[in-house]
Amino acid sequence: MTARLSRPERRALQRADEALLSLPLVLNGDPRPVAAHIRHIVHLLRDPQANSPCSAAVAHITGLFDRSVPPTPAAPLACRKGCSHCCVQMVVLTAPEAFFVAAQLRKRPKTVAAIVEANSRAQGLTLHERLHSKIWCPLLEDAICSVYAARPLACHGFVSLNLEACLAAFERGAPPDIPTPQLNVTTLETCRMLYMAALRLAGLPDAAYEMNEVLATIFATDKAEARWLAGENILAGVPAKAPPPPQYDKAIAELAAFVAPTV
Ligand code: SF4
Repeated sequence: MTARLSRPERRALQRADEALLSLPLVLNGDPRPVAAHIRHIVHLLRDPQANSPCSAAVAHITGLFDRSVPPTPAAPLACRKGCSHCCVQMVVLTAPEAFFVAAQLRKRPKTVAAIVEANSRAQGLTLHERLHSKIWCPLLEDAICSVYAARPLACHGFVSLNLEACLAAFERGAPPDIPTPQLNVTTLETCRMLYMAALRLAGLPDAAYEMNEVLATIFATDKAEARWLAGENILAGVPAKAPPPPQYDKAIAELAAFVAPTV
């Protein structure tokens, strides 16, 4: 697919996309649903009428992930409402995911202060030191995620088949070795890749950051999301986490190149 589409072709493609967008993603090698979601996310990120284009784009990708993993996996999950042992880990997320979280906190100054405080406590700590410092996610309230529907993609994807493995890692300091259904891992990777391809096609950075650190900067920046979407590098002072490995990066670039003529 190299030539740009004519207007009638574009309309036909839009109609075909609409039929695919609400379906779960089936990992069967069919590129059409993947391309449809990429085009839709680019469209959401570029929507000038939206209050928060980033929230709309991230809600779409996390919704896609949630409906694409089986509600009752072959082996039952150990995760339960009120079980939050894993919410002591460092959360890594992209800027649009952070804008989505930040949009939930506009009227919650205590939570904003708790995020800024958690960010200061974590400064200078290694990953290992941070895990053992027990810096709980400041978004937890009574052991429940207070931004559950808007939680980052990594949090959507983090599930466990074994409570004892979580207790060993997060309460007793053993190296984390949490069993997770393979379908969740593969679906999360696919959703993340198509979301990253959409960011690139929208001309936006796909860098990832530590959650409290990037949120503290967003709270301190006037009109942060609008300025970031307009291309201003408002997150220049926030260290980016390691970029995707080369093989993964190449797959994202190939996906973006495949969809580019139709965006
Ligand atoms: S955002 Fe929610 S799910 Fe993620 S670590 Fe924080 S409290 Fe837990």
